[in-house]
Amino acid sequence: TRDPEAPATTTPTHCVYCALQCGTLLHRSGTDVEVEPSPDFPVNRGGLCQKGWTAPAVLNTPDRLRTPLIRGADGELAPASWDDALDLVVERLERVRETYGPDGVGVFGGGGLTNEKAYALGKFARIALGTSQIDYNGRFCMSSAAAAGNAAFGLDRGLPFPVTDLGEADVVMLAGANPAETMPPLMRHLVRPRLIVIDPRRTRTAEQAALHLQPAPGTDLALALGLFHIAVAGKHLDEEYLDTRTTGFEEAWRCALPWWPERVEQVTGVPVEDQERAVRMLAGADRRYLLSGRGVEQHSKGTDTTAAFINLALALGMPGREGSGYGCLTGQGNGQGGREHGQKADQLPGYRMITDPAARAHVAGVWGVDPDSLPGPGRSAYELLDALGTPDGPRALLVFGSNPVVSAPNAGHIARRLASLDLLVVADMVPSETTELADVVLPIAQWAEEEGTMTSLEGRVLRRRAALTPPPGVRTDLEVLHGLAVRLGQPAERFPTAPRPVFDELRRASSGGRADYAGITYERLDAGEALYWPCPESPDGDHPGTPRLFLDRFAHPDGRARLAAVEHRDAAELPDSDYPLHATTGRVLAQYQSGAQTRRVPALMAAAPEAHVEIHPGTAARYGLAEGGLAKVTSAHGSTIARVRLARTLRTDTVFLPFHFPGAGRANLLTGAALDPTSRMPEYKVCAVRIEPWREL
Ligand code: SF4
Repeated sequence: TRDPEAPATTTPTHCVYCALQCGTLLHRSGTDVEVEPSPDFPVNRGGLCQKGWTAPAVLNTPDRLRTPLIRGADGELAPASWDDALDLVVERLERVRETYGPDGVGVFGGGGLTNEKAYALGKFARIALGTSQIDYNGRFCMSSAAAAGNAAFGLDRGLPFPVTDLGEADVVMLAGANPAETMPPLMRHLVRPRLIVIDPRRTRTAEQAALHLQPAPGTDLALALGLFHIAVAGKHLDEEYLDTRTTGFEEAWRCALPWWPERVEQVTGVPVEDQERAVRMLAGADRRYLLSGRGVEQHSKGTDTTAAFINLALALGMPGREGSGYGCLTGQGNGQGGREHGQKADQLPGYRMITDPAARAHVAGVWGVDPDSLPGPGRSAYELLDALGTPDGPRALLVFGSNPVVSAPNAGHIARRLASLDLLVVADMVPSETTELADVVLPIAQWAEEEGTMTSLEGRVLRRRAALTPPPGVRTDLEVLHGLAVRLGQPAERFPTAPRPVFDELRRASSGGRADYAGITYERLDAGEALYWPCPESPDGDHPGTPRLFLDRFAHPDGRARLAAVEHRDAAELPDSDYPLHATTGRVLAQYQSGAQTRRVPALMAAAPEAHVEIHPGTAARYGLAEGGLAKVTSAHGSTIARVRLARTLRTDTVFLPFHFPGAGRANLLTGAALDPTSRMPEYKVCAVRIEPWREL
């Protein structure tokens, strides 16, 4: 309720933002909501980061969208009724479909959507629109780690063990992850272990590390091959484990053989003694983990880089053992669940491949449609956005839970593509840089206004609960999909508006799949059970779930993990005389993703108010830049304007820009579109730039 007379309530739920999914208690009185950390949720143990503490501010933000908007003949967005907006959307979708066929319509989802919404969105695209053209922004997040994890272990679950296991470790290697800023409560579990941090920046996490390896951007793969080389040459291998639990060592070793430490130092800049110390620390510890993050994953060779770090972990016998392992620190709130339920271009619910006839038959059976009517695989996220408005690409796009004008790479180009569409429909809770381009804007409910489930980075399924009703005029995403599907001629019961029946259907659709949710129910979650997938159906409905994967065998048919044969290659763009510096992008503590939510929170804006570029003082002096001045940063793709911050934490050949800011300060105006050949991950983490002072006109 939003009734000021209604008794105050306290609702246990989880944070709106990142994949740590900290447990929270929401105290509501009228429309006022305050948050406190839930004292007994093991992941955050009574802690929250600044974003979590201030999350309720977005619920009542003054510019909250409260009515559908339709762009009129004058080019302005004007309020409209829901019926008018949905009728118009469907009329124009039908026109596009008649002219260009079903693939003339695209759907772009998000890693923040609940499991129920991600599932319903994939189903809506495949059977209500009949399009293959669906993907989501999670492709930009952890898809390289997912691809490498699937190849190595036969199954990808961010952390195949509970977060709390990390607290018992002796050593943790963080490859391209900065949890001290991106998910601070995780650091509570990293107090005991000695940390090895691999990052071109001396981040807050690196400052807490026993050892910081600071490679040049785009060279992590060479470093990983070098660490593997040292592990072999130094006789640190776990021979018995390699013999009994893995295949592919010889091929992997052949690739790593030429990466002797001095050559690695030459390419990466990481001193030989630091490389050797890192391997000794990891190999010498009883309980050790290797965790990857976006820093090594968001590259045009992100899958191979992650695979090379997995090779190292396998060589040392780490994965699939209690007290040791490899995991990926998934970023977005439902980055894990979002990739399991069918909003990926190549997948159906249950983490099934859309090209697998058995998977198609199973899911089509649950949906009550002919398997042959299901489309095949579509384009990956960047390729989908890049194709918009082109002769072969979609002419209409529906966007749910994403703001690609800020978050997509090569953002200036993508904004032009979006603007060229016959129809752009954006469902969002607040105006964003993408709603500014939309023909129709649909106002939707927020995290604390609706029920559902999320799957955290450790594969634990969590209940998200409503603390208050949505404001008048606002609908949930499930209601929006229902309204569109019915107008497109689908039976109403095929697209329920309540999350629970959607989840029950998701359970059936996932049953027998790689991410099996069949044994997980709202009742069990509400009773406080900690359920990690896979959790298949069992006769008594009490399967305990699987907190730790791979303890007996990996998920490949022969039970063995695969080492990968991977070769180093350069980043797509290297510095040259025109663009002499590396630029790398990332997050800061007080903002989240495209900033559409966090830029509306006064406390967060006070902490991180505008686009900035971090640069070493020596480099800044070379280019005539001073602390607090404005700089123009230019790559082959575009230019951005940002406030200069001098930081000795940077390499002298590298600048860093956070990607949360809009307009001329968008870091993604600089990033390019080189894609990883396997995961289709764009190269967010490195591009070549020049920098110069900028004076406002
Ligand atoms: Fe929310 Fe992530 Fe911060 Fe936890 S760490 S409070 S989930 S943003």
